[in-house]
Amino acid sequence: MATSVTPGIRIATNKPAAYSSCKVSKPGIAFLSSGSKTTSWAGLNSSSQTSSAQPFFQNFQITSAKPQKFVTKALSEASSSKPASGLPIDLRGKRAFIAGIADDNGYGWAIAKSLAAAGAEILVGTWVPALNIFESSLRRGKFDESRTLPDGSLMEITKVYPLDAVYDYPEDVPEDVNTNKRYAGSSNWTVKEVAESVKQDFGSIDILVHSLANGPEVSKPLLETSRNGYLAAISASSYSFVSLLKHFVPIMNPGGATISLTYIASERIIPGYGGGMSSAKAALESDTKVLAFEAGRKHKIRVNTISAGPLRSRAAKAIGFIDMMIDYSRENAPLQKELSAEEVGDTAAFLASPLASAITGAVIYVDNGLNAMGVGVDSPVFADLDIPKST
Ligand code: NAD
Repeated sequence: MATSVTPGIRIATNKPAAYSSCKVSKPGIAFLSSGSKTTSWAGLNSSSQTSSAQPFFQNFQITSAKPQKFVTKALSEASSSKPASGLPIDLRGKRAFIAGIADDNGYGWAIAKSLAAAGAEILVGTWVPALNIFESSLRRGKFDESRTLPDGSLMEITKVYPLDAVYDYPEDVPEDVNTNKRYAGSSNWTVKEVAESVKQDFGSIDILVHSLANGPEVSKPLLETSRNGYLAAISASSYSFVSLLKHFVPIMNPGGATISLTYIASERIIPGYGGGMSSAKAALESDTKVLAFEAGRKHKIRVNTISAGPLRSRAAKAIGFIDMMIDYSRENAPLQKELSAEEVGDTAAFLASPLASAITGAVIYVDNGLNAMGVGVDSPVFADLDIPKST
């Protein structure tokens, strides 16, 4: 249930003074590769470099290109809607910070939408080099269609914060990053500074989502991965979660929830998911348990991770392997359908809600059940078994 039918989106951000389309140096994020065909994919992100010039704070209103349409739909649905029955997920009055949204194709975006649909206020942390394009796309209404919530209203993002989750404190940022054009104009984007800014702006949050990963050597087998590549994968994909909790938990209200995204390659061999990314996901899952204990005892905060199936995110599409991974899942998973980002988003909304008040330290699989399989049933050796197939 969204509380607003506002057709525009308000974004307050540390607006970079200038945008540079400087090249991304290294590939990054990786999720999976599987099946007999094997593969790997590296993705969109990069270890970037750069600096932060003095930014200026800006509040601006973005108006939908087609506001009338959305308002009309929202109002007509609202007027005919009945009180929800059963066990609705109600996050009204809760504030969420979602780290790792730079477009409308990934899991972070879908989670933001589900949380917004349940009534939560949405704050976003966007990787600094991607900030300008994300902001301008929002401003130009490029995401208006995908911002539409089930009741017809548009998801509002209250504020977008620049973030680079591989740096905890300003003094950790190397000179080449500090002077990189892609960081020019943004400031206060280390994890500690972002948490401080959120505290200053809003006081507290209730939900923290970590939806980011980066593995510069993801396309290399583990045996060929360099120490730097391995540590970079761990830093961006695992320690970033520890750091976010370390700095955000103190501003989280008791009873709050944190969620990260993991992948089955943490516990099963997925050829092609290299560069230490499988190790990074294993660390993330192990840390989920330890952090659940520590944050639970000290702050009454829950810590869970969603092990998601393959999604055609922007990075995945750019690399070109994702369709094969989706096909593999459809052929071999108990549920023969394509996984939608919304299914992961809705699970996150459940995990963030009081309905999941006793769930912490858990890995929740949202993958059509693929994790439960011990074999790939599309292998010819099973040809005579007459295994039922969805058409
Ligand atoms: P995505 O590209 O939408 O999300 C990744 C985000 O991480 C991007 O917005 C990127 O800008 C951000 N990022 C990278 N380095 C960063 C840094 N140093 N600081 C801040 N942000 C940074 O792709 P996605 O597929 O939705 O990935 C989200 C999460 O889901 C990741 O943890 C990924 O491993 C996990 N996951 C994805 C799949 C899949 O098939 N797509 C499957 C299982 C798990």
